[in-house]
Amino acid sequence: MTEIFTGNFTQQEAIPDEGIKAALEVLKSGRLHRYNVAEGDAGETALLEQEFAAQMGAKYCLAVASGGYALATSLRALGVKPGDKVLTNAFTLAPVPGAIASVGAVPVFVGVTEGLVIDLADLTAKAGQADVLMLSHMRGHLCDMDRLMEICDANNIRVVEDCAHTMGASWRGTLSGRHGVMACYSTQTYKHVNSGEGGLLISDDDVLMARAIMLSGSYMLYERHLARPPVEVFEAVKYVTPNISGRMDHLRAAILRPQLRDLDTQCARWNALYRETEKGLRETPGLTVVERPEQEVYVGSSIQFLLLDWHEKKVNEVLRRCAARGVELKWFGGAEPAGFTSRYDSWRYAPSERMPESDRVLKGIVDMRLPLTFSVKDCATIARIIRAEVSAVWQAT
Ligand SMILES: *Cc1c(COP(=O)(O)O)cnc(C)c1O
Repeated sequence: MTEIFTGNFTQQEAIPDEGIKAALEVLKSGRLHRYNVAEGDAGETALLEQEFAAQMGAKYCLAVASGGYALATSLRALGVKPGDKVLTNAFTLAPVPGAIASVGAVPVFVGVTEGLVIDLADLTAKAGQADVLMLSHMRGHLCDMDRLMEICDANNIRVVEDCAHTMGASWRGTLSGRHGVMACYSTQTYKHVNSGEGGLLISDDDVLMARAIMLSGSYMLYERHLARPPVEVFEAVKYVTPNISGRMDHLRAAILRPQLRDLDTQCARWNALYRETEKGLRETPGLTVVERPEQEVYVGSSIQFLLLDWHEKKVNEVLRRCAARGVELKWFGGAEPAGFTSRYDSWRYAPSERMPESDRVLKGIVDMRLPLTFSVKDCATIARIIRAEVSAVWQAT
């Protein structure tokens, strides 16, 4: 009998009861705007910022409307101007080059390795072209962060980390987001905590964070923030920093606070799913498992494997056969951007030169989400299905 998987790849877990309860309190209060607080009340948003800063070991945190907004705000805080070049990953999600384009800057794409991380040799070669790197830890893969920071420090490049897929991950004991001068997280439904939409930005830098808070639309109410630089720092920036409204409200903050308290537990659950899937995929002929460096503590909220040098028709055949058995795979190699997947040559507003080595990798990347509504047993089933279908198509070669 052919095994069919019946789980749903986009089904998230419910918001924890504690979050629902806190959200209802906010709704009953009628005070949803972050600066609309009762006398003596800090408000959910300011408390979220204070707690997330502490959790990440950062001095400051700002909660905003989305991860993409956090990225664009970082660039503005850094003073990136129209026409400036910004280094970024060729393998990332569309909001990353989009954030760069939103400030009128121009992305310079850096290649991707078979380990699915930024190609440090290519970064070194392009280091002279820009003084900001927007580093996307795409799909949760961390590059050698020690080496990356050496390269960037030697070239006076400031690093903004896109931690949309690495909230809770670390490199050699340092949390993801603590290497760069600023780091951005997404709290959108498909990430590690879920408020529908939302973003978090952290930094230890006084001026950058004061600018970011003003940019986010604090008006002159920045004193109400709990994870902010001293008020004196705002004196120098408050008249010259535009308000580009993108705040987070109390409702979303209320939903997020209990989820952040559970982050470590959730990450451990994701990794159990990841390891089971990876185990089941190992030694499938024609399929390359992406090996994880031992310095990396990852969060396996999705898994990638490579069908390197496969003909397009064969990859499509694998996707079709897996889909017929209930396993939804995404392919980064498709000629046309589809769903959430696109790649550097799809972003035609940002001209790029071909990168043959990266193209070979991108053409082979197959991606799958691992929502926490799946069990470890589900992951074993999924891996068996992928293994069978990849093997069948491979053998027919
Ligand atoms: C989701 C995502 C973002 C942007 O987050 P939004 O909250 O959706 O704006 C940025 N980078 C990567 C890699 C992402 O996956």
